[in-house]
Amino acid sequence: MADLSNKVVLVTGASSGIGEAAARELAAAGAKLMLGARRTDRLDRLASELGGDVAFRRLDVTDRSDFEAFVAAAEERFGRIDVLVNNAGVMPLSPLASLQTEQWDWMIDVNIRGVLNGIAAALPRFVAQGSGQFVNVASLGAHYVVPTGAVYCATKFAVWALTDGIRREHKDLRATIISPGVVVSELGDTITDATAREVMASFRESALTADAIARAIRFAIEQPEDVDVSEIIVRPTASNVI
Ligand code: NDP
Repeated sequence: MADLSNKVVLVTGASSGIGEAAARELAAAGAKLMLGARRTDRLDRLASELGGDVAFRRLDVTDRSDFEAFVAAAEERFGRIDVLVNNAGVMPLSPLASLQTEQWDWMIDVNIRGVLNGIAAALPRFVAQGSGQFVNVASLGAHYVVPTGAVYCATKFAVWALTDGIRREHKDLRATIISPGVVVSELGDTITDATAREVMASFRESALTADAIARAIRFAIEQPEDVDVSEIIVRPTASNVI
């Protein structure tokens, strides 16, 4: 495994699922970590367990000033920032016709505005130092739309576009899209719609564990500076649904 002890990595949504697994994987590779999420009790436990150079801070990605303070806290603690893993996301799926407009707004706020807030906080610092990497967790839903997933997929298409936009506008920065297939996590717990719950249950018949995505994130970070892994799609081998 490559040595990431020269990297300061910020991970959003580190309190469960893919973000927590990424924190474990990156800590094992020696990275200095700043972990963010709203459930700080979980972050506290994780940081204590990982030991070493692991800090955490409460973060609501929908709040631009909170995101700025999160990045500033990492910079103050470690002297610089090298990688922002924009992983936090929500997925309350439902058919469009059920008009769950509050859930639409919630997905837009966390999945799109949250990533934009991360870009607003980290990009000026990356530009000033002439290096830096965004690792933005999109989804297979950035490539395919499934019934009940129109709004969620729209947010992930947006994450794809934003990440590719960074790559095209900044020759000295790295921008990576991570597009997972179905992964066992808490992501589906907020689905209230019965049809969407059925769809998710059928998808979850073949699902990855979060460490598979964490390894992809580490792979993208550990490449030499002149190598930009621009996208990794990771599917369960046994899945041929999408
Ligand atoms: P989890 O629900 O397990 O994790 C989601 C994380 O996002 C939690 O740590 C949660 O922390 C955090 N989060 C949610 N809202 C906010 C907020 N407003 N501010 C800060 N953090 C927030 O799901 P996954 O690990 O599966 O999801 C991680 C990413 O992977 C998401 O972007 C998801 O869309 C994507 N993905 C997941 C797939 C899957 O099948 N699981 C497939 C494809 C993509 P807290 O509640 O403590 O704030």
